[in-house]
Formats: sequence, C-alpha cells, structure tokens
Amino acid sequence: MSTPKKGNLSPSEDELFVVITAGNVQEASRLLGCKDVRVNCLDEYGMTPLMHAAYKGKADMCKLLLQHGADVNCNEHEHRYTALMFAGLSGKTDITWMMLDAGAETDVVNSVGRTAAQMAAFVGQHDCVTVINNFFSRARLDYYTKPQGLEKEPKLPSKLAGPLHKVIMSTNLNPVKMVMLVKENPLVAEVEALEKCRRVMELICEKCIKQQDMNEVLAMKMHYISCVLGKCASFLKDREDKLDGLVKSLLKGRDRDGFPVYQEKFLRECIRKFPYCDATLLQQLVRSIAPVEIGNDPTALSVLTQAITGQVGFMDAEFCTSCGEKGAEKRCSLCKMVIYCDQACQKMHWFTHKKVCKTLQEQREEQESEAVKEATGSMRELSVEANASQSPSNQETGRRERRPRPESRTKTDPETRTHIYYPPEDRVEGREIPTRKTRGCGGRPSF
Ligand SMILES: [Zn+2]
Ligand SMILES: [Zn+2]
Repeated sequence: MSTPKKGNLSPSEDELFVVITAGNVQEASRLLGCKDVRVNCLDEYGMTPLMHAAYKGKADMCKLLLQHGADVNCNEHEHRYTALMFAGLSGKTDITWMMLDAGAETDVVNSVGRTAAQMAAFVGQHDCVTVINNFFSRARLDYYTKPQGLEKEPKLPSKLAGPLHKVIMSTNLNPVKMVMLVKENPLVAEVEALEKCRRVMELICEKCIKQQDMNEVLAMKMHYISCVLGKCASFLKDREDKLDGLVKSLLKGRDRDGFPVYQEKFLRECIRKFPYCDATLLQQLVRSIAPVEIGNDPTALSVLTQAITGQVGFMDAEFCTSCGEKGAEKRCSLCKMVIYCDQACQKMHWFTHKKVCKTLQEQREEQESEAVKEATGSMRELSVEANASQSPSNQETGRRERRPRPESRTKTDPETRTHIYYPPEDRVEGREIPTRKTRGCGGRPSF
C-alpha cells in the first residue's frame, strides 16, 4: 500500500471515517480487514482515523485502531495536532490515558507551540491535564529492573516495580494516601525495599532534570515520592508503631483548630529539599508558600498538588479529610464540617478530630444563624428598597453561606484557579509549565 497522502482516500477508507463518527466498532473492524484500508490514512486535513476517534471521545474505537497498528504519534495534521491533543480536547481521561500508554509523546507541540497538556488546560479539561502531567510509563520504570552496564543486580527488584508504579501514577499527593499505598503492600513496606525504591525515584528525578526536554514537574513529583518513601523507611527503622505511627503524625491536628502542623512542615521540607535549586518550579513553589503562615491557606499540599497535577477547582469537589481522595461523601455527623471516603478514614482521623469536633459544630451553628439573620435583614431592606433596581443587599441574599474551613487541606484559593488557563495566542501568562531550563540560581529556598 502507498504511503498515506492527505485526502488521498480509497472508498473503503472514506467509509471508515464515516463509521468512526457513527461509533460503529464492528463495521470499523470489518473495514480495517480490507486490503484497501490503511489504518494511518489521512483525510484532507491530515487527520488519521485515530485522531477522529480520540476527538469524538470513542474509547472502543481508539482501542481497535491501536490494535490495528494506528500510529499514535502521527503529526501530519494541518495544525500539527496529535492524537493525544485530540484526546485532551475531548476531555476523556480514559482515551488520554490510552494514547499515553500507547507511547504518545507529551512534549510535541502544535503549530502555535502548545503541548497536549497546555491545549487541554486551555479548554478547561483539567482532568486530562492531570493524566498527562502525571503519566510515567511502566516501561520507563522497568528499565531499572534490569542490570545496566556492569551491575550484577538491578537497582529495582522486579517485584517492586508494580507497587512502586502504582504510587507514581497516583494523582492524590496527600502523604497519608501515599503511606497507605506503601502499607498495603508488604513487599514495599520494608526498610530495604523502601530504600531501593527511594534511590530509583532520585535517579528518575535527576534524569528528568538533565534530559534534553527538562521536565521539572515530573522531577518534583519523583523527588516528593522519594521523600515520602524515605520517611516511611525511617519510621520503620525507629518506631515501634511502624507506619501507623507515621499516619497518625501526619493527621494530628493542633489543639487550636485541628490544623495538621506536622504534615504541613513535612511537605514544606520536601519541597525545600528539592536538589536542583535553579529549577523554575521550585522557585514558584517557594514564592507561593514562603509568605504563608502555617495554618493558613494555601497549604503546601494544595500548592504542590496544583503544580504537579494541574488540579484546580477544588471548590466544587469534596476531598477526604484523612487521605485526600476525591469524591468523599461521608460527613462527620456531629460537626458536619469534615468529610471522609468511608468509616476507615473517619476512624483513622477521630483521635485528633474529636478534640475540635465540638468547636467546629459551634462555629457552624453560629455561622448558620448569622446567615439566617443576614438573609432576613436583606429581605427587610429589600422590601424598603423595593423600587431600587441595584440594591447591594439584593445581591447578598443570593450568596451561599460562608463556612469556616479549619480542616480543609486540599482546597485552593479561588484566585489561583485562573492560573491554569492559557491565552490562545503566543503569550502565556499566569502559571508557567516550566519545562525549559532557566538560568540563575535563586539560592537555597527557605520557609
Ligand atoms: Zn479517605
Ligand atoms: Zn466532627
């Protein structure tokens, strides 16, 4: 078969594009078996069948095309969009994942210099941004499971690669969750294994910084994981209560308001210990965290999470107070101010939450009664100013009540939400995704 040229399609190939749009996987499968169908044929805009399927958000179709050898890095599109870019635009995390797993390059840019992650961010598909920014293929990790050069033994025993990969792929950076992931696997939860994993994380971190397309985001994530693994190892070495003790330390809130001071300090220390002080990302993190007094927003965890995963919009989702998992729904029945995945997470937190639960309950009730007063007052003013069209109190009534957020650790200041959006043209403001090396060392950061 000839090399694909734009718009040079056989009748069956034409039909393939039609059935992809319709989502008819069976028919697509039949057509892909025909002699005159090339899986990487190009329509008049230079789009492959895979690009179409990704853009339309058809996961089964993408799978089928990949099985038939679709080129995930084809870059013949008129604006140099790739299948990964289309996946990101579609907002489908499973398809974005599939493209990455099939070897999609994340650093490729389109004709206006945007990567797939930046394009997905621009259209507000933040979950896809998270998937792209956190992707690290198993193959890249498996490299360390084979002896290299003169090594007699590999740096990472293969039995550890699976559980370590799970930690790497987690988009929940809450240290409690990471310790839970370590704890659940007896192969990893052991000093020697942890030290090996930690060393590999450091090597990958170094590689991310020194490679031609520097990836500071991934480097920071690897460094952070290595810090958590190191902390687990030191607890296993020194403490009787093992990792449960570490979880407790991380969750323990201060008496005044339940704020987990140890966790905040640990996170700050991890960031500060990032070994490459020239890194733009490190400088940004330090700038965001240094002026914040411990106990105030934003927390180091929220700043780090936003930098690494690109996750914003925490205001709309509920996160477990213990482990930081998204989608927690079980509220403390007394104060109704903290939320958990399940009873296990609540139980884990109760030893410290019980000290502030009552105070929180009182605060909430006070705020609720104030909100009621405010609303009644506004109604009264409203009747007085019935003829005034722009009464400020009029707007007040529609506002949602404000609640104190003493134990929220993952929410981000609403103002920072804007930082993820990219203007369409060449100028990029707000949060930069630092991938290129910048010169000048700002010195060792301190908080
Ligand atoms: Zn939880
Ligand atoms: Zn409570």
